[in-house]
Amino acid sequence: MTAQQEDDFKSGYAKLRRKEGGARRYYNRLMKAPLLRRCPYCYDRQVSEIDHYLPRSSFARLAVVPLNLVPLCHGCNKQKLNYAPSPSRPPLLHPYFDFAESEQWIGSSLDEDNFVTTFYVNVPAPWDEDTRKRVENHFEVMKLGQFWSGSAAVYFSTVWARLLRIYRASGVFAVQDYLLEEAELVVEGHAEPWKFALLMAWAESEWFCECRWRGLIMVELELLLDDDY
Ligand SMILES: [Zn+2]
Repeated sequence: MTAQQEDDFKSGYAKLRRKEGGARRYYNRLMKAPLLRRCPYCYDRQVSEIDHYLPRSSFARLAVVPLNLVPLCHGCNKQKLNYAPSPSRPPLLHPYFDFAESEQWIGSSLDEDNFVTTFYVNVPAPWDEDTRKRVENHFEVMKLGQFWSGSAAVYFSTVWARLLRIYRASGVFAVQDYLLEEAELVVEGHAEPWKFALLMAWAESEWFCECRWRGLIMVELELLLDDDY
């Protein structure tokens, strides 16, 4: 490709981003494409920008090709940077083509001693070796494990009081039922797949369902009160 052609492709993308003009409509349509505007990489934050799935720096020809333009959140864009596949680096999952959202490939486990929820890649058995490696690479590059552990802590902060109330009123199995029902709703609503894995991990833990974490919460609340007064 000549330098002139390369410039033409890049300026085509600049036109797309400009606030005025017909091309902006197309940009806006792309931004609205993901369900509930949820980022198709982390399945948690809201989309806020458009990224080149294959970076402009190496694939100028694809600068305005619709299938190469993917909406995502700022955090994931920063994580992805100019990632380009090579013989030793498989392509990341492509939000338009890959299975990531349609099948559960995320596993989660609860470390009861430290009360930390971790995430890992748990691809369905029929998936081949290459696909598994690709998903693991995607998980690694996008630092999804660390991110979802943080999301799990945030989610817990919104739900612990309800769980405790259920436990006190109806006992351990009621807490477990609640978590399983929430997990079902996540699947029905095509919501965050990491949250499904999280709820299943919590539901499987007797320690969690008996709200034995409540001692930790009380300590934290007491510390908070000490700070305030
Ligand atoms: Zn994201």
